[in-house]
Amino acid sequence: MFHKELEDYTGRLLEVDRFRDYCPNGLQVEGSRQIRKIATGVTASLSFLEKARDEGADAVFVHHGYFWKSEDPSIKGIKRKRIALLIESGISLFAYHLPLDAHPEIGNNARLALRLGFSIDSRFGNQGIAMLGKVWNPASAEEMAERIGNSLSRKPAIFGDKSKVIKSIAWCSGAAQDYLLEASSLGADAYLSGEISEQTVHEAEESGTVYICAGHHATERYGIQALGEHLASAFSVEHVHIDTDNPI
Ligand SMILES: [Zn+2]
Repeated sequence: MFHKELEDYTGRLLEVDRFRDYCPNGLQVEGSRQIRKIATGVTASLSFLEKARDEGADAVFVHHGYFWKSEDPSIKGIKRKRIALLIESGISLFAYHLPLDAHPEIGNNARLALRLGFSIDSRFGNQGIAMLGKVWNPASAEEMAERIGNSLSRKPAIFGDKSKVIKSIAWCSGAAQDYLLEASSLGADAYLSGEISEQTVHEAEESGTVYICAGHHATERYGIQALGEHLASAFSVEHVHIDTDNPI
């Protein structure tokens, strides 16, 4: 199959036109080959691309692609190396950012809920990407952190009252620590995201909403993987997920 067909299908599936984003969603670098095998990963880093090439992938699908609004648009340095590898290997790069966070079934936040045992009751935050729900088996913040660590293969750090029993929870994958106070105003006992800032510690202590810092990479592995599985079952393409671990 060809990149245009895959791009049209995925664009409709993830409703990319509904989102205002900081990067282009869809085909970012066009490869030369017909697509028989796709590789998925969180970030289109050089080591991820090398592994995808060695796996014989014709296209890669990632959550973090290139051409972010805030970055220097020149193709030099590490960006040149990455794009050169793609073009020389004839590999297409597809990237999906906010639409992949938000999708109700295969999105990062929906997959986190499924994996961590949360119901999805409502949404909040920028374009409704963050979610609010209940913990199926309420437990103390400390026990929750243990559970989440086992499920995501990365032990989270917790801030605020560690003995608090967590019944309602809000979450947003990636670097969405700034939604903590909004989550608190919505009545969440805890808020989970991937990264932390200096003020997040004070906000957790003073708002009464526990902050669970579970890792940017660790919270964003599952959406892109679900997308790859979906595309492999919808089309006759092979799929491999490549987890190039990142401690942040
Ligand atoms: Zn991210």
